[in-house]
Amino acid sequence: MKDDYIHQGKRKQLVELLRKKGIADEAVLQAMNRVPRHLFMDSGFLEHAYVDKAFPIAADQTISQPYTVARQTELLEVKSGDKVLEIGTGSGYQSAVLLEMGVQVYTVERQNELFKKTSKLLPRMGYRPKKMVFGDGYKGLKEFAPYHGIVVTAGAPELPKDLLAQLKVGGRMVIPLGKTTQIMTVYTRKGETEFEKREYGAYRFVPMLEDKN
Ligand code: SAH
Repeated sequence: MKDDYIHQGKRKQLVELLRKKGIADEAVLQAMNRVPRHLFMDSGFLEHAYVDKAFPIAADQTISQPYTVARQTELLEVKSGDKVLEIGTGSGYQSAVLLEMGVQVYTVERQNELFKKTSKLLPRMGYRPKKMVFGDGYKGLKEFAPYHGIVVTAGAPELPKDLLAQLKVGGRMVIPLGKTTQIMTVYTRKGETEFEKREYGAYRFVPMLEDKN
């Protein structure tokens, strides 16, 4: 698992591109500059790892586009020490970015094949989420709630109510909502029963599906 100067150089260029595309949070950009994205992809094809595109991984899923990861992480507005629940572990790349920021990561994946693969890969690279769970992300992870942030990395056809309930007051949930295309939506918990909703443009995600597989 090597990360040489060629990878590092390409990654720096990608980070500069993200900056040009409007990502302004330095903590996010620095974390993405440190995570070797090529090691999260099956083939390790250099030419695909550091372009701003999604790429197929196992079980018909994709590693999200770097810009999307950056944007979702930025919208979470979390800092070192905060607890974040991620729905859709996938390749583990988003988890790694959060871990580089010092965030405590709890992550759920519904595809057993991916769950098994990524549970091995992350620790081998030195990335240690607090918890990696094989389960249905629609239910969240109640045992460890509440969270400062919740990030959903699959397109949710409708709002999963259980997730909102697991947010700390003051916390934010970043979720792409919609059936064929999704609107990046942020819910901020203002009080026990009070939420503020904001929208941040259209994206295209693999669908969030119910249950385990
Ligand atoms: N965060 C990932 C993105 C992977 S794509 C990364 O950085 O690579 C979205 C992932 O969400 C897929 O792995 C998919 O299997 C998973 N997923 C879809 N529905 C889910 C659900 N209900 N619970 C948990 N994970 C889900």
